[in-house]
Amino acid sequence: MENQVNPLKQYFRKPGIWIKLPSQGNFYKGKLIDFNDMGEIPVYPMTAKDELLLKNADALLNGTAVYNLIKSCVPSITEPTAMPAIDLDAILVAIKRCTYGENIDISTDCPSCQTKNEVTVNLNHVISNIKVLETLSPIDFDSGIKVFIKPVKVSDLLSLNWVQFEQIRNIQIAEQNNTDETTKVNLLQQSYQILTEKNLEIVSGCIDTVLLPDSVAVTDHENIREWINDLSKPEFAKIENAIMVTSSMGVDKEFSVTCKNCNTDFKSSLDLNPTTFFA
Ligand SMILES: [Zn+2]
Repeated sequence: MENQVNPLKQYFRKPGIWIKLPSQGNFYKGKLIDFNDMGEIPVYPMTAKDELLLKNADALLNGTAVYNLIKSCVPSITEPTAMPAIDLDAILVAIKRCTYGENIDISTDCPSCQTKNEVTVNLNHVISNIKVLETLSPIDFDSGIKVFIKPVKVSDLLSLNWVQFEQIRNIQIAEQNNTDETTKVNLLQQSYQILTEKNLEIVSGCIDTVLLPDSVAVTDHENIREWINDLSKPEFAKIENAIMVTSSMGVDKEFSVTCKNCNTDFKSSLDLNPTTFFA
């Protein structure tokens, strides 16, 4: 009985769209399934269950919603949390496109007269403009060291969101309980320290190789982590900025708006945070 094929199987969801990944399938653990010659993977529309999970605040916050959404709609990706975060943006746009159609309505405020403008953004256009990540050039240090980076992973984003949420919540609880000033200051310092630690962890996790002037390549994560902890602030910022530049590649979120009230032209951008993007 267990192995009997469901006659409805042929009517199961079909891919809604094939998309190009900004990472081109690089930086994944192992090769992607169903990666075609054009460098694209299939994306399926959401099920009712997927949609329901996206309305669950806890599931969104702890990452379960995003994890399950990718498992369901992008079966090519077997380990969603290990994927580069730049691909997540492209995937979220594609899921939205094949579930709800090509146009989305966005409300955006004019920076000049504050009038609310309703704009329609065409997701097909966004998808066809996805840029692939070219080879990442290494970061050069005055000491002759070269640092080779890789993009931030989805798991990094999720754990950062979680840590930020916890810190904000702790501070809110302290406010509500009328905690004394000293305790509050301690709490803030502690929060700052936890966030700094998290940041160090993410940045060192994005370093693939450190190439020394004598051509010795350091790839051991513990060694890299120890070196990162010891870096001067400007050197650390140099690596951090390069990682941030990488994170902004892939999906072009910007679009142009002309205010219906004062005719001012301004730029607005798509908010791809799953919490709001699927609301
Ligand atoms: Zn205006």
